[in-house]
Amino acid sequence: MRRAYNSVLRLPQLSTCPQCDAPYVPHRVCPACGFYKGRQVLTVTAGA
Ligand SMILES: [Zn+2]
Repeated sequence: MRRAYNSVLRLPQLSTCPQCDAPYVPHRVCPACGFYKGRQVLTVTAGA
């Protein structure tokens, strides 16, 4: 019964971006829209 690492190697907890509803890592810029703390800090041209 080797299942020790199944619970260790899971993804870090994600938050949902208030701007685009994409999951993102807290305290990081949203990779989908470039928003962080309510302002746009990256210029992301996704889709359009
Ligand atoms: Zn976003």
